[in-house]
Amino acid sequence: MSVIVLESVTKRYESGAETVVALDAVDFHADRGEMVSIIGPSGSGKSTMLNMIGLLDTPTSGTVRIDDRVVSDFSEADLTEERRSGIGFVFQDFHLLPMLTAVENVELPSMWDTSVDRRDRAVDLLRRVGLGDRLTHTPDELSGGQRQRVAIARALINEPDIVLADEPTGNLDRDTGATILDELTRFTDEEDVAVVSVTHDEQLVEYADRVVELIDGVIQG
Ligand code: ADP
Ligand code: ADP
Repeated sequence: MSVIVLESVTKRYESGAETVVALDAVDFHADRGEMVSIIGPSGSGKSTMLNMIGLLDTPTSGTVRIDDRVVSDFSEADLTEERRSGIGFVFQDFHLLPMLTAVENVELPSMWDTSVDRRDRAVDLLRRVGLGDRLTHTPDELSGGQRQRVAIARALINEPDIVLADEPTGNLDRDTGATILDELTRFTDEEDVAVVSVTHDEQLVEYADRVVELIDGVIQG
């Protein structure tokens, strides 16, 4: 079953007298265990679509479902909970907190949870991305690729259903980008998450199980 489904999702922005149709009757789904890449030229609606999938914005019309639940029926508290525990975010510029160590950054999204095994899971995730010897390094003591691996571990700490990756290799050289894509591919299987990425990076497209192309807010093909 698809973990995230968009049905005929349209998003319009009104700016003054002008109306921009950022997404036009978009149908989309992503399943656990697959990596889907959303591609398209600048202004084609990729960020808008990522915001819909990440429950950061609401459609003008159409339906968003998470695990077969209609998102527009969620209370504000449900939305917050779903964003916090159901979705992991990976950003182009890492978004790590500079004063925290690697393991503290990974733990951060689970801080409200007082169960003791959070530290264990953070350490385990960092070991699995090859940073078992960097647990107490701060971001400025890590290379770009290492920072992004910390961010991937952080995205997985709450055992999400979906990982959303916004240009995850955008600030990395090609070889480092490849190691990040290897990690994302591995976790797609090992953690059985749906990974949805937005990218210009053709390398990332090669790793994807499925590619969805947007042009002027319309899915191609
Ligand atoms: P992409 O991520 O592919 O570059 P976006 O989703 O950012 O595309 O934008 C799609 C279209 O919607 C563009 O024409 C953009 O100018 C417009 N748009 C995006 N956000 C807003 C906003 N908050 N207000 C008005 N127009 C917007
Ligand atoms: P990359 O080629 O992946 O960008 P770097 O050349 O930045 O890697 O770093 C190479 C190694 O040096 C990495 O293992 C990294 O952990 C370590 N390193 C880089 N910068 C620092 C630092 N400021 N303090 C401690 N270790 C560092």
